[in-house]
Parts: sequence; C-alpha cells; structure tokens
Amino acid sequence: MNEIEQRLAELEQLGLTRRLRLVSGPQGATVLVDGKPVLLLCSNNYLGLADHPRVREAAADAAMRWGVGAGSSRLVSGTMTIHGRLEEQLAEFKGSEACVLFGSGYLANIGVIDALAASGDTVFSDELNHASIIDGCRLSRAEVIVYRHRDVEHLDWSLRKHARRECRRLIVTDSVFSMDGDVAPLSAIAELADMHGARVLVDEAHATGNLGPGGRGAVAEAGLEDEIDVVVGTLGKALGSYGAYACASEEIVRYLINCARPLIYSTAPSPPAVAGALAALSLLRERPHRVQRLRSNARLLRRALAGEGFPVADTDMHIVPLIVGEPRATMRLCQEALERGVFAQAIRPPSVPEGFSRLRLTAMASHTASELEMAAGVLGDAARAAGVQPEAFMPALNERHEEVLEPASERELAYAERGAHAYERAPELDETGPMSAPFDLERDGEAIAGDARVSAGAAAATPFDLERDLQDVRAA
Ligand code: PMP
Repeated sequence: MNEIEQRLAELEQLGLTRRLRLVSGPQGATVLVDGKPVLLLCSNNYLGLADHPRVREAAADAAMRWGVGAGSSRLVSGTMTIHGRLEEQLAEFKGSEACVLFGSGYLANIGVIDALAASGDTVFSDELNHASIIDGCRLSRAEVIVYRHRDVEHLDWSLRKHARRECRRLIVTDSVFSMDGDVAPLSAIAELADMHGARVLVDEAHATGNLGPGGRGAVAEAGLEDEIDVVVGTLGKALGSYGAYACASEEIVRYLINCARPLIYSTAPSPPAVAGALAALSLLRERPHRVQRLRSNARLLRRALAGEGFPVADTDMHIVPLIVGEPRATMRLCQEALERGVFAQAIRPPSVPEGFSRLRLTAMASHTASELEMAAGVLGDAARAAGVQPEAFMPALNERHEEVLEPASERELAYAERGAHAYERAPELDETGPMSAPFDLERDGEAIAGDARVSAGAAAATPFDLERDLQDVRAA
C-alpha cells in the first residue's frame, strides 16, 4: 500500500471518507439527488438569490457583454468596469471607504491575513474560525495565539501576554461562526483592539445578507463599521454568486492591492459572477424583506425541531447544528433523512472537532413554512431510525443574543481542548450537476413573484446586444 491508499483506508476506517454527491438543478429549496426530489437544507444560498431569475439574467447578460473570463489578474490586464462597479456598491452597502474584490472568501482571508501579519507579528484567532483564516494564519508565518471560542477575557489576557510594542497585532474572527451559527462578541473585541493597539479583521461570510439592518451584516448590527479595520465577505453565500471582497479604508485597500498575493497573482473574478453578485446586491437593497423571511424561517425551523425533541434554542439564527457526536452515526442520520426526502449534509472532522460530528442545517428565505415543518418531522423520524433519540443530541454552543458569556460548560471546555486550530473547517462535498429543475416562480409566493416581475422589466430595459458586441469585437 502506498501512502495515499493507506490514508484513504484510514479515513474509511474512521468513518471520515468524503465523496462528492451529485445534485441536479440549481441550489433552490428543492434539488434532485440521484434523480429524486429532496428538500435542500444545507446550502448557503441563504436568500435564494443564486437561482433568482434576475441574478441569472444579469450573469448571462454579462457573459455576452464582457465574456466569461477576466483574462488575468487585474494588475496585469486591467480592472474591468464591472469589477469597479461592484466594489463601489459593496463599499456603500458595508459603510466602508473602499472595497477590493478577491477570487473567493478563502483567497480573501489568506490574502488579507498574510498582508497584515508576517514573521515577528502576532495574530489572535478564535479557535472556531474558518479554515481559510487558519490557513491565512499559517501562511503569514506570524505567531498565532488561538483564544477560546468567543472568550473575551481569554483574548484580553492573550493580548496582555503578547504585548510586544514593535510587532503588528491582528485579531481575526468570524462574525457568525460557520458550523455553530453563534455570533462573535464584536463590540468587546473592537474595544480590546483599541485598548491594545491591534487591528481587527472580521469575516462576515455568514452574516452579510443575513443579519443587521438590510442584511448589512453583524458589524453593522453592532454599529461598528468605523471600528473594524477590515471586513471580509464572500459573494458565494447570501449574495448567490462566487468571489469575495474586503472592505476597509482607502489606505488599507491600496495596501492590499500592493501586498495581497491572491489578488496580485490570481485571475480576477469572472464577469458573469461579478454581475450576478451586483444583481443580488441590488435585489437585497430593493427588497430587504428577504432578510426577515430568512430570520423567520430560521425561527420556524428551530421551533419545529424543538417540537420533535431536538435541543435547539429558540433564536432566529439560520445555521442550526444538530450535533450527534460520532461520525458514523451522523452519516447514518444523513442517509436516513435523505431517504425520507431531506438533504442535510453530515459534517465531520476535520471540519468540526472530533466528537462533534453533526448535521449542519441551514434555513433559506426560499423555503416555505410547510417545507420546514416537514423537514423537522423527517429529521425526528430519521434520528429515531438511526438509533439516536432527538433528546440525546448535544445542545449547540452559545447562540445569538447572549451578550454575556456564561462560564464555560464541561462540554465547551471539551470542545475547546479538541478544537484549537487542530482541525480545519472546510465545506463538505458540494457539487452540483447540470441544471435540470427549472426555477419555480410560484413556490415562494408573492414576494419572489414580485421580484420576477421586476426582473422582467429589468430584462426589457437592458437586453444584451449581441450585434453591438460583435461590432465592438470587429472594431477591436
Ligand atoms: N469564511 C467562512 C466563515 C466560510 O464559511 C467560508 C466558506 N465556507 C469562507 C470564508 C470561504 O468563502 P468562499 O466559499 O467564498 O471561498
């Protein structure tokens, strides 16, 4: 056996083998898995914009106007107008002076952290931060101090202990944590940063579009737009596309353009992806009710799950972990749910600490109430069929709106011991097949049908003009 076969056999033995599951159709509320329609309950297409008609049209139109590829890094073959337009819109939306796009959230985090910290500097990182932050810390070669999850006292202590004046210090945190759906204590972190002369980077991957006024994120919800040095976010979740951004002062953005390697050495985001995100952003700004719909759907899902006996808190957070513990039991549960019509991917180590495998459920604004109620019933049945009573699941970590952290429970301490950046959190298995299911304008009722009407108007106003573009090409 060579080392690759050996490692694969080891993963199999531990119940940790991953495989790509083929899903047909867009990331709508329902997808086809192995030809069978199932409710999608694990996508980050939180607002239902990835498959929204207006977003699709904008991407298709952009492909005809500007082509599919950006051709090169923007520092080589130039920034396209559409990149600049999205950056302006995002800066305005996030209340920052400036913004710069990256190829993905992963690239943005490694690029920004590596630019803001180097050998001799110190990064303070929450132990449950996303894998891209962990990798950014590693790449920077800075000293990395991992503080206990959301533990402000531990962060304060760490900052005092590593108070070398001559080095740069950077605090990094997710705002909404991707696997637990809890929120970082951003105000306290900003205060500590100010006190200790550190910069703060907040990753709003799961907050932009989902929290705060008009979906502006957790930083805006806490009123901290002027206190946080860099806000990173992805275009790949609530904004329904692909790519990412960093919002910051003009000076920091200028610095990133000069020093963030994934921006300098990687091809710029593709025009259709950028145009799709622009359309999604304008939909969000025109119709912020989607954010309320997501929040109320999340609460509905949680209440229905609690009704089944799962230990789920009565909050409105859209990420709902059902923590089983053991990876094989989690896979069994995933399979039982799938057979009953609900697709909720099992998440296992190294995406979460050992002993905390789970189904990570996500509500979407495009789910209907009856779909979410059905899902809770299915998950209850699936759990019992998999041999785990819903009441025996582990409760989630701190949920939203708990401003004061209670003393760490035994479970949290165990989590902390096993976590501590020893694992990585990567999205499990998401692979979509060719589009087969058409989007269904009726299913989401008035609100989304209303968007479609706007969409029809927009399409009429800005049809792509193949003739004009061909003339441009000939002229060139
Ligand atoms: N940060 C967080 C918190 C994430 O959950 C993710 C994606 N799972 C990323 C960054 C990476 O974003 P992208 O998918 O755009 O690379």
